[in-house]
Amino acid sequence: TEEVNALREDLGSIKVKGKNCPKPLKSWAQCGLSAKVLDVIKKCGYEKPTPIQAQAIPAVMCGRDLIGIARTGSGKTLAFLLPLFRHILDQPPLNYEDGPISFILSPTRELALQIYAECKKFCKPLKLRVVCVYGGTGISDQIADLKRGAEIVVCTPGRMIDMLGANNGKVTNMRRVTYVVLDEADRMFDMGFEPQVTKIVQMVRPDRQTVMFSATFPRQMEALARKILSKPIEVLVGGRSV
Ligand code: ADP
Ligand code: MG
Repeated sequence: TEEVNALREDLGSIKVKGKNCPKPLKSWAQCGLSAKVLDVIKKCGYEKPTPIQAQAIPAVMCGRDLIGIARTGSGKTLAFLLPLFRHILDQPPLNYEDGPISFILSPTRELALQIYAECKKFCKPLKLRVVCVYGGTGISDQIADLKRGAEIVVCTPGRMIDMLGANNGKVTNMRRVTYVVLDEADRMFDMGFEPQVTKIVQMVRPDRQTVMFSATFPRQMEALARKILSKPIEVLVGGRSV
């Protein structure tokens, strides 16, 4: 473990809390990603994992819940997307009536669209479908998108709650959701979305995997984390700023 801690320090001041966290990655080749995923990574010019990716990806790929804290611009999006693709590819394909396998919650429409764009680069070669659900625009096109079926839904909390209630709750269902992401959790909290986020997450089956990413981890967010995460690993890159 001394050795693993030295490697964490070496890869960029990675601190870990929680039991049995796997070793961080030194290269993409180490993490068991599919050839198609590695191909997109290469085309994007991402030579090696950033520190948050190096530690969060193996932890999430082991099936653990996770709190990942690293500054803006540190590559948190791929830290939850790459394990997500593995998770989906390991499961039987969707049937016609099935709802999504994963939800990614984002505080704003702009961020949701950024995650959606990053996700789409991989979805095409992997033959997966992603839908983006956000407010400030008509709901009917988004209802149609969701009804066509998608493995992944990127959404803002308010519109997702509207969506779950639309057409007498017949637009989609949470039965197959097993991977939930809360991105920019600190902003979600600041914007007062905690009740909506809790409501959505608690509709998902209890055996789900839940991961939370944030630039900061203020004390008030710990209660939310305790409520929705189970035995999480906490990965902190570059010190805790509140
Ligand atoms: P965060 O969510 O932490 O703010 P992003 O996931 O939006 O960060 O990533 C920031 C930028 O870094 C994006 O432009 C993304 O394409 C790029 N990026 C992500 N991972 C890598 C990597 N491993 N190597 C180089 N660039 C990367
Ligand atoms: Mg981000």
